[in-house]
Amino acid sequence: MATSPYYDCVVIGGGASGFFTAIRLKEEAPHLSVCILEAQQSTLGKVKISGGGRCNVTHILPETTEDSAIPKALMGFYPRQYPQLLGHFIEWSPAQMLGWLEKHGVPTKVEKDGRAFPASDDSGSIVHVFESACEAWGIPIRTGARVTDVVKRSTIEVEPHLPQFQHAEANFILRLSSNVLIEAKTIVLATGGSENGYRLAEQLGLTLTPKVPSLFTFKIDDVDLTELAGVSLPWVKAKLQFPKAMQESFPKAVQKAIPKGGITQEGAFLVTHWGVSGPVVLKLSAWGAFALEASKYQATLLLDCLPDLPDESILTALRDERVTSAKKWIANACPFEALPKRWWFYLIDKAGIDGYTPWQEVGEKKAITQLCEVLKRLALPIVGKGVFKEEFVTAGGVALPSVNPNSLEAKTTAGCYVVGELLNVDGLTGGFNFHHCWASANTVACAIANQLDGV
Ligand SMILES: Cc1cc2nc3c(=O)[nH]c(=O)nc-3n(C[C@H](O)[C@H](O)[C@H](O)COP(=O)(O)OP(=O)(O)OC[C@H]3O[C@@H](n4cnc5c(N)ncnc54)[C@H](O)[C@@H]3O)c2cc1C
Repeated sequence: MATSPYYDCVVIGGGASGFFTAIRLKEEAPHLSVCILEAQQSTLGKVKISGGGRCNVTHILPETTEDSAIPKALMGFYPRQYPQLLGHFIEWSPAQMLGWLEKHGVPTKVEKDGRAFPASDDSGSIVHVFESACEAWGIPIRTGARVTDVVKRSTIEVEPHLPQFQHAEANFILRLSSNVLIEAKTIVLATGGSENGYRLAEQLGLTLTPKVPSLFTFKIDDVDLTELAGVSLPWVKAKLQFPKAMQESFPKAVQKAIPKGGITQEGAFLVTHWGVSGPVVLKLSAWGAFALEASKYQATLLLDCLPDLPDESILTALRDERVTSAKKWIANACPFEALPKRWWFYLIDKAGIDGYTPWQEVGEKKAITQLCEVLKRLALPIVGKGVFKEEFVTAGGVALPSVNPNSLEAKTTAGCYVVGELLNVDGLTGGFNFHHCWASANTVACAIANQLDGV
């Protein structure tokens, strides 16, 4: 019988978090043997397509944020607000990640909004640096190696039909879909949002929370709106509204997570050919991920197109326009510079006003009030969920209480660690999802080095 290969650590999953765990582990404890197993024929698939091919690798907060405040400030970009993240962010900050990349020959740049990218604007630079580091450290990467089962040493005595351990130091036997067996002292689950990864996690006694998609666009049922595809508003305030009876039917935990004033976000807004997108919509999809799933993606999007102006100021501006542009058609004279022309036409129509009406004929009661209403509270019916091509993550996964917060080791299975998207952590767009991958990978690498090496 052939001897199964043995490693001090086997990382299951060749994505961002798996690679970074393996590399950081070798940096911390060079003599430990580490290997990466990847189900697909190639690795780092999501890194390649990330950030529209540019890989938004992490996020640098504004300079006004004190260094010591950064870890806590970062947590505000993770809608489910996991206090357990704080320690990982203290140990591995966005600046450290950029420093690591620079040190390994990948210059980076930070855009005005804080998103950090490789200076090459090419995710291939990140893929290359990880692959080169694995080669330099001699980390074997097995592709087409899907792990189907994990056997713990503790279960072996009670179930004699299971494969027998060949290595005294091993705590786990991993069976690949090819039936090859690999033994390991420690294992790292880095399987992302994949179903078979969840199955392995469950097999190892980890608790899973319900999973729902996050970071998506909204499908809106309004032909007049979708004809405006490409129109954008630089800053709006938007709120998700669910009918009262529907909201009361949501699971209690989902109801509890909805703030009193509703789920509200601000940011840029974009009309697409089938609905709406832009940062404000993506943020709402993340903060409202569970509520939207419970509503089967049926809700109302309430839009405030001029969040800086209260109703009174808007009414005054509209009344003033009636005087200053008395003879002009309402469609040709918009008192608000921030609004694109096509958006103004759309709003006039929504207010039930003929665009060819001269301003002086615009009535106070119906037209002015109605215009103010659509400017401040435009109701758009959400009828479904779209995709967001640049990023998409799964909210939910391995419940944080089922792992030790300092090491991310499974409480039920010593020697089994969890990193990356498989954990019940999801962030907003902007580099926060990758940052969680790097920080959790660093935590696990240090914990394993500590455990096996007494570092
Ligand atoms: C289109 C897109 C763009 C994105 N862009 C960004 C961005 O710019 N910035 C950002 O911060 N985030 C971005 N994200 C999110 C980010 O990609 C994820 O958060 C991150 O890739 C998660 O990494 P991971 O290693 O935990 O999981 P994954 O990348 O999903 O890797 C898991 C790996 O495990 C393998 N696997 C699963 N089961 C097994 C098994 N049983 N045996 C062996 N292997 C297995 C899978 O094949 C996969 O390769 C984007 C996501 C998408 C989809």
